[in-house]
Amino acid sequence: MWLTEHETDHLRVQCRVIRTLHREQSKYQDIAVVESREYGRMLVLDGVTQTTLRDEYVYHEMIAHVPLFAHEGPERVLVIGGGDGGTVREVLKHKEVKRVELVEIDERVVEVSRMYLPELSTSLDDPRVTVRIADGIEYIRGCRSEYDVVLIDSSDPMGPAEGLFTSKFYGDVARALRRGGMMVTQSGAPFFMPGLVRETYEAIAERFRSAHLYLANVPSYSVGPFSFVFAAKDHVECEPVRRARSRFKTRYYSSEVHRAAFALPVHIKDLVEGEPGESGASIA
Ligand code: SAM
Repeated sequence: MWLTEHETDHLRVQCRVIRTLHREQSKYQDIAVVESREYGRMLVLDGVTQTTLRDEYVYHEMIAHVPLFAHEGPERVLVIGGGDGGTVREVLKHKEVKRVELVEIDERVVEVSRMYLPELSTSLDDPRVTVRIADGIEYIRGCRSEYDVVLIDSSDPMGPAEGLFTSKFYGDVARALRRGGMMVTQSGAPFFMPGLVRETYEAIAERFRSAHLYLANVPSYSVGPFSFVFAAKDHVECEPVRRARSRFKTRYYSSEVHRAAFALPVHIKDLVEGEPGESGASIA
């Protein structure tokens, strides 16, 4: 049996599946958990791989530790999306963090992750964590200067996640952040989604004084480097301000990897900083 992911109209990626452990249509999306030969258990939403037990640490460490080590003293963190719990697990490794709120629109993703992905979802039982089942777009509208770090760990911009990639939403996030606040969002794969990466970066740069793209190599996203946008209310160079190594074990993140992640290949740097169409990667 093969899981086929449609990357573009002309590119499909397949991985061999041993068995399907769960499949349902929730109010928002098709939710599947499969056992695959290469990646172990995989969470798949509407046919798009979200996370796999073999390589989930790459994405979850890089979405969480870059902002949390760039912030002088992160105490209150909001995660929008992230119903599998992987990002929350990494956030909780920072002892400074006193409260984590997870706002996930689809309760079934949380419940299915609790059943099949305890390596990620047990983090949601931590006493510092509050899980809210709500639309992050609505939720953020009611927040004012409440969070030190906001992480947008969402699915790609379709269905309920579409509104999480707009300038209006990023303006609401900026208002929800305290002084010195930081945000990171996943922003897709630059090589095959140059438009998404550029538009996301531009929408964020409109609302924050600092916006920087950074990269990580997530094997199961199998479309080249994966990007995140780091944004800060004040001018910051997004360097790690606290030593990472001495504090807890990681498998991908380190202070060196943190710095290197912001060193962009020319065609990606041009994509976000150059004139439209200047990038070598923008495919017609
Ligand atoms: N991409 C992550 C990773 O690589 O590990 C996992 C992402 S997590 C599973 C994505 C979550 O975003 C989904 O559970 C989806 O239900 C949630 N989501 C989508 N739109 C949302 C919204 N507007 N508000 C809150 N959660 C949302």
